[in-house]
Amino acid sequence: MRLNSFLKLTPEYRDYVWGGDRLRPGHHPTAEAWVVWEGDRIEGGELAGKTLGEAASQFGIELLGSRVYARTQGRFPLLVKLLDCAQWLSLQVHPNDKQAVELEGAGQFGKTEAWHILDAQPNSKLIAGLKPGTSADVLADAIRNGTVEGLSQYVSVAPGDTVFMPAGTLHALGPGLLVYEVQQSSDLTFRVYDWGRPQTATRRLHIEKSIQVTRPDFTSTVLPMPNCGDGTSDELIRCDYFTLELLSASSHSIELDTKNETFHAVTVIEGEARLQAGDEDVELEKFQTALIPASVGRYQLFPLEKCKALKASG
Ligand SMILES: [Zn+2]
Repeated sequence: MRLNSFLKLTPEYRDYVWGGDRLRPGHHPTAEAWVVWEGDRIEGGELAGKTLGEAASQFGIELLGSRVYARTQGRFPLLVKLLDCAQWLSLQVHPNDKQAVELEGAGQFGKTEAWHILDAQPNSKLIAGLKPGTSADVLADAIRNGTVEGLSQYVSVAPGDTVFMPAGTLHALGPGLLVYEVQQSSDLTFRVYDWGRPQTATRRLHIEKSIQVTRPDFTSTVLPMPNCGDGTSDELIRCDYFTLELLSASSHSIELDTKNETFHAVTVIEGEARLQAGDEDVELEKFQTALIPASVGRYQLFPLEKCKALKASG
């Protein structure tokens, strides 16, 4: 079979203590929806019930695209989550690819990530790096003593803001935020500080690894919402691991093209949309996601009502 249809993905949910009510009404708390993940199952069509990871190994370059396949040797490289934060998440840091192998062994990957703020209660904040001028020695002492929060760079954010978090950036999401997060698919998170919450088997601090990985000179800036039009695509982030674009449409369609180089992952964040390629189509409601295999090539997004969507590609 040829892979020429959209793959609608069923999210997996994670019900951590800090979650809220906005992702899955009626299930409290729901902290995370994993909307694009190699373990997510495909809804409908010939691949129904298979995971995205299984489809990626079956179809390889057709699904991933030539550029991504050459970089990842067939592994699906991204994870996209929606996070509903009712409390502060732990202060954490991720290694880069080189440190991931040095600290955790061959086959491990680092994690660079980006956040797009979907909703925020007034005065919502997050932590994005360290205060300017923080030295490595002062940082190491503060991580060991549990006082790193005092050195952290707090920033206020509003809906539509985007923040880029390269590996090595100290970070934490604060209460009131609903966030779209795109990241390298990696499990390596080092917990630097957890607001005095008790350390349990699944919520330990990783003091020495955090000291090795956290960059004292990294502070992230907030990128404001672009001036979206009708039928527009605005690039928010481009890095070695992913590109993130904001699609906005109220009456005009948007022409999109994988160019056979990469897959696209389109997640509707406002309104509803229909994707169409030839006689294949799929409708997406708010927070639903379609994976567009690289072999689909050209396709269109039609707004069913005033619509915004985020498109991540590899
Ligand atoms: Zn993180």
